[in-house]
Amino acid sequence: MTWLVWRVSPFITSIFFILGVFTLYEVLIDWLKAKIIDYDSTIKEHTIEAWFGIIYMVLFIYGLQATVSGKSVSWEFMNFQLVAIAFCAYFVKIRIPFYIFFPIVLIFMIINDSITYWQSWIYAFAVMLFYWSIFWVSKRAQKQSYPSIPYILTGAIYGLILWYIVKTKFSLSWSIFIQEWIYLIIFEILLYSYTRMLFKNEILKKHLTSSVNHDALTEAKNFAAFSSEMEYLFNSHQSNNLNLSMVMFDIDHFKEVNDTYGHLAGDEVLINVVDVVQTVLNATNPKVTFYRTGGEEFNILFPGYDLDATKEIVNQVFSALNHVPVEVKGQKIYITVSMGVSQLAKKDNTPTGFYNRVDMNLYYSKKHGRMRITAN
Ligand code: GH3
Ligand code: MG
Ligand code: MG
Repeated sequence: MTWLVWRVSPFITSIFFILGVFTLYEVLIDWLKAKIIDYDSTIKEHTIEAWFGIIYMVLFIYGLQATVSGKSVSWEFMNFQLVAIAFCAYFVKIRIPFYIFFPIVLIFMIINDSITYWQSWIYAFAVMLFYWSIFWVSKRAQKQSYPSIPYILTGAIYGLILWYIVKTKFSLSWSIFIQEWIYLIIFEILLYSYTRMLFKNEILKKHLTSSVNHDALTEAKNFAAFSSEMEYLFNSHQSNNLNLSMVMFDIDHFKEVNDTYGHLAGDEVLINVVDVVQTVLNATNPKVTFYRTGGEEFNILFPGYDLDATKEIVNQVFSALNHVPVEVKGQKIYITVSMGVSQLAKKDNTPTGFYNRVDMNLYYSKKHGRMRITAN
């Protein structure tokens, strides 16, 4: 049809068709991930990708097959389907166990009206083996210097086997067999390059998002992340009465650390402070989040905690920071910190109001001898 209407070879149309299918997948999965993670941030990105990947590609494969089922050319979309399979296994890395895969294949055979053909059964098992092989190859790909080679080889070998089965079933000529096999390899190479490009963009986007919300020196979350989380938790308090407590702490006489040991040593101390606090929090409650909000100033947010409930964690963080020295170039640097703690109260009309109260508590600690906690 394309020859007649657009004067474009069906092979060229196929390329744009298959790239369009993957672009649509990327656009939809991005949208879906943002929606779902916004709703429940504990759901892992890969779980969403895996479920959506299976549903999208299965519907794509079934949809195509339904249009040619029972016809003498019912093998026409086979290369598209094999490329879709390679995409799920190699790029999205979806682990599909036999008990899920077999029913998917069985339904395909029912749609395709091919359940009574012995060649179709061999084909079905070969497709499953193809999937698991290319999945296995993808798992090993990180360790290889040329990961594209085993990927293309696996595709080419299974392509030969699968197209030979189909050749037998439909009595295809050798020239169609060779042509389709070469098309498959070309599609696989295209898929590889195109997906690599899409994933590179994805990685770049993740990197940019991460650097907006993280501090470059310590890799802790930064003030921007703190402000937006604070706003969110403040609103949750207003609408659902969710408790919220906050710690603010500041390293005492940090200027002296810089003046005595140098700025780079000071940087090491800051990195160490982040490590120590994060280790304590990870061991207690990961929902408690930690931020570097200024040069040597830090905040901890305790969603769901009243003031009393924070006591144990706050004491742990306080004593870990005040008693563990940082070793820089053989020298032990001891630091102390001053803290302010408080719980969000009715009188706090805005997040800033709450922030200022905690800051006042920190200020009180500074004014009254440092290395102390003021909580009220
Ligand atoms: P106080 O006990 O009153 O908090 O005294 P302080 O010296 O800690 O406070 P001050 O605000 O006078 O000095 C803070 C110092 O923190 C000065 C600044 O050079 C240092 N600082 C801020 N950010 C960084 C950083 O990223 N690296 C290093 N090495 N130092 C930093
Ligand atoms: Mg200080
Ligand atoms: Mg300060």
